Amino acid sequence: MEQNTAVMVRIGELWLKSEPVKKQFMLALTRNIKTALDAQKIDYSIEEYRGRILIFGDTKRIAPIVSKIFGIVDVSICETTTNQPEDMAKTALKFAEKKLKPGMRFAVRARRQHVSGFTSQQLASMIADVIWEKIPDFVVDLDDPEYEVFVEAREYGGIVYDERIPGQGGLPLGTAGRAVTLLSAGIDSPVAAWLMMKRGVIISGLFMDGGRWAGPATRYLAMDNVRILSTWCPGRGIPLWIANLEPFFDAMTNSCDRHYTCLFCKRFMMRVAEGVAEQNKMEGIVSGENLGQVASQTLQNMGVITASVKLTVLRPLLTYDKEEIVAISRRIGTYHESPGDTGCLAVPKKPATRSAQELIDSEENKLDMDKLVREAVLSAELWIAKDGEIFQKILSE
Ligand code: ATP
Ligand code: MG
Repeated sequence: MEQNTAVMVRIGELWLKSEPVKKQFMLALTRNIKTALDAQKIDYSIEEYRGRILIFGDTKRIAPIVSKIFGIVDVSICETTTNQPEDMAKTALKFAEKKLKPGMRFAVRARRQHVSGFTSQQLASMIADVIWEKIPDFVVDLDDPEYEVFVEAREYGGIVYDERIPGQGGLPLGTAGRAVTLLSAGIDSPVAAWLMMKRGVIISGLFMDGGRWAGPATRYLAMDNVRILSTWCPGRGIPLWIANLEPFFDAMTNSCDRHYTCLFCKRFMMRVAEGVAEQNKMEGIVSGENLGQVASQTLQNMGVITASVKLTVLRPLLTYDKEEIVAISRRIGTYHESPGDTGCLAVPKKPATRSAQELIDSEENKLDMDKLVREAVLSAELWIAKDGEIFQKILSE
């Protein structure tokens, strides 16, 4: 490791895993980093060490990209040195000279691993002494410093930095299977999709286009949500299926008890999602449902919705408050300030909050459900969102 500027990536939870799992997760993480940097056409080189990844190159461009990659606790722009205390001190001083002023509350945070000859406390005080010679009168304050310098003495060299840019946490994308997200024009479902991605799940979207039953803004918003989600996995595409919900709405509103419209609708969406998932080898269905948010999201009704499919239904927002969901939505970029008309014309005045499974079954038996589901799956358009753009993929026979 030469003296150089690098982006240091810190990995958290991965270190709880067994060796083989860790290896697999590290592989996924470095692959995701490379895919992201390649997508931006950035030159870099990567070195992997225990618990740390160093990326050499244009650190100002690399750091913000990498800090968005799931599975990373935080990143720092660092200087690499030898693991000799004098070298680390010289570099620490270089950092301090830019930001440390006399009288400021200051701390040196030192770590040492597989390096002998000094303890981490000795290293910290050696470094503080060197800095004191040039910038005297700082106040050592380990609890509430205004400025900190971090030094790490490791068997492969020294690492010095003074800033930690928070990452997203979670697990590397691609380490937790695949799932299709029922993705609407709303606030919740893109957040649900993002939270699953953060836990390592590769996501596809399924938007059910209500046609004349739905507000005209819905289709654009759903597409825009997926487009924005794609900025969270640079270099990798997110498929979005857009299936037609109109034939089902027409049939259902003609034949079934309108009181249960929202339940029929959600159960139908689940079935189409299951069809898409089966076709594309996905292991779960994600929804943005949230306990108690609307009539169809009582515990009882969500049970009836879940019973429409065999595949695992995942509801990452189940216990979130709306404020929390909105806060995440703003942070990840899917919040639309003025979404336009997203209303649904099929919603009854008094939607049912409790529904008996037998009644729902007998109402649905009035429809040719298999055919409606099959046709919705078969006629779905496929779009791909990648690096903040979305385009239609023409499906050949
Ligand atoms: P969101 O919950 O995403 O804000 P919403 O509030 O319009 O959208 P709800 O009635 O709360 O929708 O629906 C619950 C869940 O059902 C959504 O979170 C989403 O997963 C799914 N869903 C609703 N409408 C659609 C749609 N048109 N296409 C695909 N999935 C949908
Ligand atoms: Mg909702």
